Amino acid sequence: MKEALRIAVQKSGRLSENSLKLIKECGIHFDNGIGKLRTVAYNFPAEFLFLRDDDIPGYVQDGVADLGIVGENVAVEKDRNVRIIKRLGFSKCRLSIAVPRTRSYNGIQDLNGKNIATSYPKLLGDYLKEHHISANIHEISGSVEIAPSIGLSDAVCDIVSSGSTLLTNGLKEVETIFRSEAVMIARPEVSAAKEKILKQLLFRLDAVQKGNNSKYILLNAPQEATEKIISLLPGMRSPTVLPLAMGGWNSIHSVVDEDRFWEVIEQLKDAGAEGILVVPIEKMIV
Ligand code: ATP
Ligand code: ZN
Repeated sequence: MKEALRIAVQKSGRLSENSLKLIKECGIHFDNGIGKLRTVAYNFPAEFLFLRDDDIPGYVQDGVADLGIVGENVAVEKDRNVRIIKRLGFSKCRLSIAVPRTRSYNGIQDLNGKNIATSYPKLLGDYLKEHHISANIHEISGSVEIAPSIGLSDAVCDIVSSGSTLLTNGLKEVETIFRSEAVMIARPEVSAAKEKILKQLLFRLDAVQKGNNSKYILLNAPQEATEKIISLLPGMRSPTVLPLAMGGWNSIHSVVDEDRFWEVIEQLKDAGAEGILVVPIEKMIV
C-alpha cells in the first residue's frame, strides 16, 4: 500500500459516533465491521485504528498512529509529545470538582487537606497547585462519582456535562477546572508524504466545519428594501440579488453564521423580507 495516514479513533464511547460522522462528512469511506480494530479507507490514503481513548495520545506519540481524535481532557492529562491540530466542536464537557450536597462549601480553600478521587490526577494536580491547595489526589479509573458515598474520598473531580450524574450521587459541583471538546492530535512530525495527506484532510475538515457553522439563506424583498437587506447580509463576498418575475421584487441569497442566525432573521423581517428559506450547507470552501 502507498503511504497512508494512520488515524486512531475511540472504539466505543462518547467520541466514537461523532468521530466517524466527521470522517464520513470529509468524504472518507471505509467498512466498519463490528469488532474490527483496523480498517483501510477505500477512497482516501488513510487507515483507521479503533482503540480506547486513554491509549490514543501514547500511540500517537510513539508513531503507532499519526493522528488521533480524543477529548482535550485526555490529550492534556496524558501529557504526551503530541500537538493539537484541530478543535472539533463535539463532546463538549467540563472537568469539575464536586462535594457531597449536604456539606457546606465556602471556596477552594475548603479543599485543603481533603481526599479527592479522580481519573485526572494531572489536570487536578495542576489546578490545585495553581491555587496553592494541598489535597490528597486519589486516582481511580472509573465510577469516580460514588467515591464519597462509600467513604473513599471527601470530594471528586470528574467529567460533567448536564450534571445529572452528580445529582443522582448526592454531589454538587463547586469548581470547574477544565473545559473540553474533542480535538485532533498529531505526532510532532510526520513524513513529507504524510504531511501532504494531512493537509488534504485538514482542508476537508475546515470545509465541513465552516459548512456546519453556516446557513444558506434565500428571501424575497421589495426593491425599496433591497439595499437595507443587503447591508444586513455579509455573505461570502456579497449577497446575490436576482429579480423576481414579478416586477419590483428581488430574490436575495447569502450565507449567515449559525451563531448570528436568529438575530439576523429578526432584522431581515423587520426590514421587509418575506418568504425566508434557510438551508443547511454541506461543505463550504472560501
Ligand atoms: P474508553 O472505553 O475508550 O476508555 P471512556 O469511558 O474513558 O472510554 P467516554 O465516557 O466514552 O470515555 O468519554 C470519552 C470522552 O468524551 C471524554 O474523555 C470526554 O472528553 C468526553 N465526554 C465524557 N463524558 C461526556 C459527556 N457526558 N458529554 C460530553 N462529552 C463527554
Ligand atoms: Zn477512557
